[in-house]
Parts: sequence; structure tokens; C-alpha cells
Amino acid sequence: MENEYDIVIIGGGPAGLAAGLYAARSRRRTVLLEKGVIGGQISLSECVENYPGIEAISGFDLAQAMQRQAESCGLETSYLEVVGLTRDDLLWRVRTSDGDYRAKAVIVTSGADSNRLEVPGEERLTGRGVSYCATCDAPFFANQEVAVVGGGDAAIDEGLFAARHVAKIYLVHRRDQLRASRILQERAFANPKLEFVWSTLVTEILGEDQVTGARLRNLVTGEESVLPVTGVFIFIGHHPNTEYLRGLVSMDEGGHIVVNEWMETDVPGLLAAGDARQNSARQVVTAAGDGATAAIAAERYISARFPVE
Ligand SMILES: Cc1cc2nc3c(=O)[nH]c(=O)nc-3n(C[C@H](O)[C@H](O)[C@H](O)COP(=O)(O)OP(=O)(O)OC[C@H]3O[C@@H](n4cnc5c(N)ncnc54)[C@H](O)[C@@H]3O)c2cc1C
Repeated sequence: MENEYDIVIIGGGPAGLAAGLYAARSRRRTVLLEKGVIGGQISLSECVENYPGIEAISGFDLAQAMQRQAESCGLETSYLEVVGLTRDDLLWRVRTSDGDYRAKAVIVTSGADSNRLEVPGEERLTGRGVSYCATCDAPFFANQEVAVVGGGDAAIDEGLFAARHVAKIYLVHRRDQLRASRILQERAFANPKLEFVWSTLVTEILGEDQVTGARLRNLVTGEESVLPVTGVFIFIGHHPNTEYLRGLVSMDEGGHIVVNEWMETDVPGLLAAGDARQNSARQVVTAAGDGATAAIAAERYISARFPVE
């Protein structure tokens, strides 16, 4: 029957596409619902160099290849936003911007978005010097001078990783002290490549096709200046896309879904994988691994709960 599936996958990033491949290959009728662009966050990346087996590929091409492979195994894709989820008896009802879908199991792979500075130049230069992932992009800035924005664990952790590659890091923070854990602070202060720019906001990111600098404003003196950097790494928090599941499933304080090692939530038949889950390493390869695990767990759940068809 139309809109009735074994498995509905919410979100078409690497986790959703890997889940789709595994679910479709297990001969379960599966649809992936994506509200925007296939590939999710990775579609913003000009070059991915850390997906095993592929030396270098654009995020867009990687996502297209994942989608082609999953669809050739039978995955269906619909471009719709999921707005809610309820359960009638054993079946899920997935509410979208255009009608409902019914499913025996649901895999949530709606990912996360990095918080933006919301300053001029940021959107235009994303992937052209503006990055939200040093683990992914710092090697492209070898021996260059970059800015890292933020003062929490992510900013320091990623800044320390970037320091292995770049010549110098200006760590720009709006407060006069870090929020990061003590151990990370000690490492940051001991690293000669890090220079701290306290009580300062980035007000604009400069450059035409590539970042050439960051405009700063000191919050104490009001003084404006320009940092001549070729990269701006932004770590001012991120938010999982899980609002539509509030009250249905256990989440941590940040809204990440709590799962066990099989990506099972505390609600039977509801799984979560990738950046939307708690304690994700937030990489393409880990999201894809999570997606595969969730699809295997979903298949086992369906076999146990819906034995003979
Ligand atoms: C600029 C950038 C560069 C990166 N570079 C690398 C790299 O080089 N290597 C690496 O390993 N990692 C990299 N990462 C991290 C990597 O992209 C993420 O860890 C990975 O994409 C997470 O995959 P995911 O499937 O869990 O979620 P996402 O990629 O966030 O995908 C989630 C998808 O769900 C969709 N969605 C959200 N809500 C709904 C809804 N309600 N209904 C329907 N669809 C919905 C979204 O539109 C999105 O397409 C990078 C991240 C960024 C931002």
C-alpha cells in the first residue's frame, strides 16, 4: 500500500544513506525522507580526505555516490520534511510536510547543524576558508595562519588538532577566560602556536573567493582591527535536528538522542544514528557506521516483532 514501509529513515546525510543501503539490501521496503540536500553537512565540504578507501572527493560527489548505490539496491527517496512522529499499536506514523508515512521501524538520522556567527562573509566563504570542522579541514591550511573562534571544549580540542598543521592560531573568544575543561586549557596555554585574543568578536569575514582576513571588535575598548588569516574555524556550539522528537525519546541536555551500542533508543522500533545521537564522533565514517548498525538492528527488530508476512 502507498506510503507503507518496513523502515522509514529521516535525513539523507551519510548516516541516513548508509542506513538506506543496508536496509534496502536486507530486502526491507525502505524510504528515506530528506528535507533539503542529499548529503547533509558533508555536501558543504569541497574536499573530503578522510573517508577510508577514497583519497579525495568533494562532499557532494561522495553523497551522490552513496545515494546512487543505495537506490540501486532499492532505497526510495522523498524530499519532504518530517514534522512529527507518533505510534499507533505496533506501527509508526511519520508525519511530513506532505502526508503521513507508516513504518515498522524508524531510523532517525536528521543530523546536526553548527551554530553560525551570522556575520557578513560567513555563508559565502563556507568551504572557502570558513570551516566548522578542524579535524576535517585543518590539513588544507598547512603552514598558514588561521583564526579559531570559541572558548569551549570543541574550540580548544579542534584548535589543538589544527595546531599540528598550521603555522599559527589566533584563538578569538568573546569572554576574558575559556570555558573549556582545565586539562584542555593547560594544553592550549602551553602550545606556542596559540595566541589568545580575549573579549573580542568576529564581526565580518573578509575575502572574495577565499578568506583573506577576519574583522574584529574588542568588546572592552570598542577598537576594530583586521586579522590577516586564510582560515576561520568556528566552534560556538551546534544543535542536533531533533526538535520534532521532543518528549518522545530520551535526549541529553543538548538534544542529542540517547542510544545503546546498537543505536537503539529507549523506544522500541525507534533508532538513531550519526550526529543526532549522543556521543557521536561527528565524522562521515562514524555516521555511516552508525547508520549501518542501526539498519541491522532495525532488521532484527522487524524480524522479531513481525515474524511471518
Ligand atoms: C563544512 C563541513 C565539512 C566537513 N568535513 C568533513 C570531512 O572532511 N570529513 C568528515 O569525516 N566529516 C566532515 N564533516 C562532518 C560530517 O559532515 C558529519 O559528521 C556528517 O555529515 C554527519 O552525518 P549525519 O548523516 O549524521 O547528519 P547530517 O550530515 O547532518 O545529515 C542530516 C540530514 O538530515 C536532514 N534533516 C534534518 N532534519 C530533517 C527533518 N525533520 N526531516 C527530513 N530531513 C531532515 C538534513 O537536511 C540533512 O540532510 C564536515 C562537516 C561540515 C559542516
